[in-house]
Amino acid sequence: MADIIQLLPDHVANQIAAGEVVQRPASVVKELLENAIDANATVIKLIIKDAGKTLVQVIDNGKGMSTTDARLSFERHATSKIRTADDLFHLHTKGFRGEALASIAAIAHVELKTKQEQDEVGNSIVIEGSSIVSQEVVVTPKGTSISVKNLFFNIPARRNFLKSNAVEQRHVIDEFHRVALAHPNISFALYNNGSETFNLPISNYRQRIVNIFGNKTNEKLVPVEEVTEVLKISGFVGKPEYAKKTRGEQYFFVNDRFIKSPYLNHAIASAFDGLLKSGNHPSYFLNLTVDPQTIDINIHPTKTEVKFDDEHTLYALLRSAVKHSLGQFNIAPVLDFERDASLDTPYHFNNKESSTPVIEVDRSFNPFKESYASGKQTTAFKKETPSNWDSLYVGLESKGTKTDLDFSEVHFESEETTISAFNDENKIEQTKTTYQIHNKYIVSTIKSGMLVIDQHRAHQRILYEDFLKNLTIKEGVSQQLLFPLELHFSSQEIQIISQLKEDLEHTGFVFSSVTNEIVEITGVPVSVPESEVSIILEQLIGDVENEVPDTHFSATDLLAKSMAKSLAIKRGQSLQKDEQEHLVNKLFACKEPNVSPTNRTTFITMSVDELDKKFI
Ligand code: ADP
Ligand code: MG
Repeated sequence: MADIIQLLPDHVANQIAAGEVVQRPASVVKELLENAIDANATVIKLIIKDAGKTLVQVIDNGKGMSTTDARLSFERHATSKIRTADDLFHLHTKGFRGEALASIAAIAHVELKTKQEQDEVGNSIVIEGSSIVSQEVVVTPKGTSISVKNLFFNIPARRNFLKSNAVEQRHVIDEFHRVALAHPNISFALYNNGSETFNLPISNYRQRIVNIFGNKTNEKLVPVEEVTEVLKISGFVGKPEYAKKTRGEQYFFVNDRFIKSPYLNHAIASAFDGLLKSGNHPSYFLNLTVDPQTIDINIHPTKTEVKFDDEHTLYALLRSAVKHSLGQFNIAPVLDFERDASLDTPYHFNNKESSTPVIEVDRSFNPFKESYASGKQTTAFKKETPSNWDSLYVGLESKGTKTDLDFSEVHFESEETTISAFNDENKIEQTKTTYQIHNKYIVSTIKSGMLVIDQHRAHQRILYEDFLKNLTIKEGVSQQLLFPLELHFSSQEIQIISQLKEDLEHTGFVFSSVTNEIVEITGVPVSVPESEVSIILEQLIGDVENEVPDTHFSATDLLAKSMAKSLAIKRGQSLQKDEQEHLVNKLFACKEPNVSPTNRTTFITMSVDELDKKFI
């Protein structure tokens, strides 16, 4: 049989390599920014169009390339950064694989202009799908400009695989943040579809963080500094009270390179032990400097994972450095043994940022209180009393939500739907016997036996369907706030809120203004306590960041899910008898009572037969 093995032509090999290096426009952004940094640039501009799908351009004032180097830079395994494998362990540059430009040029239209300081003129190279279209001498300033157009033009499958512009743009901005945070000594600017989105002058680290995440960030930062023989740690952690439900602002840099490390993340989380409310994540911006010989960056093509020689020591040092800072800056939990238990933060408030509720309490007790129709503003403070049970049902019915719920009416309504939603076997007996066990589950009897409901999931389902209904019929009822509520966000978060603004309005939110950093709210959905608003929005932003909805439909769904999650009664909350019954009735009035919005089981049943078997 004839020989069948052939060497792949270069352009094919490059396309395959590109699959690893370039997943999306953000990957191009990362590679080009890193090249500019490696070229010792002090000013770097990033220009993107259509989330980078149409154009990613990086202009730097770095050292530029000679005529030969300019041509060679697009060859695979062409790099000026290492010469031997040994150099891998003395790395001081971002790049070293010599693959990025070759890969990018294989799957896009690329134009390079570059000039070294001492040269009169520079070079321009146009290259499309690995083939050189032109190479000529041009007049261009010192440094390098690379524009990458029409990414994946020759691989339609990959192009179709890209997400919506909103999603891809988020990835691009994330990448920009990571690089900009690692290099406060370089000035960065980002132009998005023709407008300047970020302009970050050379500054110290704290200022760089603030320039990216907004002025409000400044007061949240606690410095961390530690120098040992094996490791230098510098940077900031966020104060515990500003911790968020999402992992948004968590940045580790090792020798100026952004890395992901669940292990080291755990070290920080454990330093915050006891200081955070459950489910909250601390923010951190930490730079670790280690001897390049003690790490291996070569284990992942995008180089975001790093292997450390001695992870255990790093873990311990990091943990104690962060602990030390939190202690030194007096950020300890307030342990007040003489406090009056009745003044405890109600469960509903447990995950609240600390600043807002204080204002909230004052507001609820101000002399204008009479002007509230139903006293909704204070409901969250009296969570345990049955009279405010209705506050659990946000935007329940478009009409009638402003007044307290009439229980008999609700009961009647749910009985009807119970029949259709639930077959006869499982129908809840019309007795009033429900029990709560461990402040977690509601137990009730049904014809065939016994029903156990997960209170948190069940309530999520109820709220979710209510929100979804309001969003669809666009009839969420809103309650006016006495004083407008001013909330601070980073520009990135504001962007997400702007995208969801219309939907949020359908649930009952009223925005009086949305500016660069501040959102002013004058109305909130009925029964959403004012003090919960910032948690809800924060959770929502986190959810959108994590799940990045692609279509409008999924954005609506995500909004309903997220709000339901934030507002649902939690496990651990004790419920009065009528609250329990109400929950059961409302659950079985839902369209899909069996599962929570995230598809988790809301209740289980156990038949008398099954019970009998257990007693054999
Ligand atoms: P690597 O960065 O791994 O070396 P790249 O494909 O990204 O590989 O780049 C190849 C080479 O091109 C680099 O080693 C560098 O010498 C040169 N180069 C790339 N971008 C720039 C730039 N912006 N300024 C100067 N030289 C550059
Ligand atoms: Mg590179």
